[in-house]
Amino acid sequence: MRLYDTARGEIVPFEPGPVATLYSCGITPYDAAHLGHTAVYLAFDLLHRRLLDLGHEVRLVRNVTDVDDDILRKARELDVFYLDLAAEEMARFDATMDTLGLLPVYREPRATSAIPDVLTLVGALLDRGHAYRSHGAVYFHATSFPQFGQLSHLSRAAMLELAAERGGHPEDPAKRDPLDFVLWQPSAPGEPSWESRWGPGRPGWHIECSALAMRELGQTIDLHGGGSDLVFPHHECEIAQAEAVTGRTFSRHWLHVGMVRLDGVKMSKSLGNLVFADDLLKQCEPAVVRTALLSHHYRQDWDWVPGDVEVAADRVARWRRHPGDDGVVADAVRARLDDDLDAPGALVVLDEAAGSGAGVGSGAALLGISL
Ligand SMILES: [Zn+2]
Repeated sequence: MRLYDTARGEIVPFEPGPVATLYSCGITPYDAAHLGHTAVYLAFDLLHRRLLDLGHEVRLVRNVTDVDDDILRKARELDVFYLDLAAEEMARFDATMDTLGLLPVYREPRATSAIPDVLTLVGALLDRGHAYRSHGAVYFHATSFPQFGQLSHLSRAAMLELAAERGGHPEDPAKRDPLDFVLWQPSAPGEPSWESRWGPGRPGWHIECSALAMRELGQTIDLHGGGSDLVFPHHECEIAQAEAVTGRTFSRHWLHVGMVRLDGVKMSKSLGNLVFADDLLKQCEPAVVRTALLSHHYRQDWDWVPGDVEVAADRVARWRRHPGDDGVVADAVRARLDDDLDAPGALVVLDEAAGSGAGVGSGAALLGISL
């Protein structure tokens, strides 16, 4: 199959070995999953299903960020213990993904399980001169890793702008260079804290994913990804943290999923313009929600329009009149998926097949749509 790779900026062959190792950045469990999250995990589910269909064993890891600024703030607001909030929201998230027909992932490791791995990695970065201690924290020194920027291809000015927008705190006076990023930070009073050689504290934002990906899948993985808003700084920093220690390629392929907008504005918790997957699944069956989401190519940013579910419901109803299995239809769906996961094209294959009276059951099953 062929997939777009963010690092190379083009569609390239994606040919993992018999065991395909994939890592997708998961949720911070402090609120329900909105359609932006759902679109990301659905794209990974599509890839998961096609790789199984091709005969691979698939090890898809999706982490859970159960300690960070957002979850600690929300737990304080609700006056609950942050891990209780995490447990509740993780159960809700898993139930939603299950209802939507996502295959179970190989592992869902939690950030709080990665503290020993994080400490080892931070120690190794300090030993190799890629990190330094300042004001009770440990920072990665970005200019010590000349390939910094190899994924996002951004200018220094553009990186600084995005870092400021996305919680990178370039203005932090403890940094030697504004592009440096925190690996280990002292906890504020009342926040969870772990002992370390550099003083008590908690991990920075990016380090858990480097630590967890390597712990669960090895030093080099086949594919890593998430939402396109993670390209910089999150994934760029993950590469630096891992490769500066191992000297090996961290991920052979990078896959990023476009943003879902409402009325032209990206859905985000900070803006509150959210449509929740749970609410949609109360109104319509999973096959319809899946079809509505898959009618947009994973790489595009797109606008959620409520009428999308009605269009999807009509399509599913038409396919249901031709539920038989037709190998030619299934192969045409496979061909669309192998062309950079062209789900919208695969849905058109089903429309045309149903229109000509061919059975679409096995083709729909490849997309996780049960008829
Ligand atoms: Zn991540």
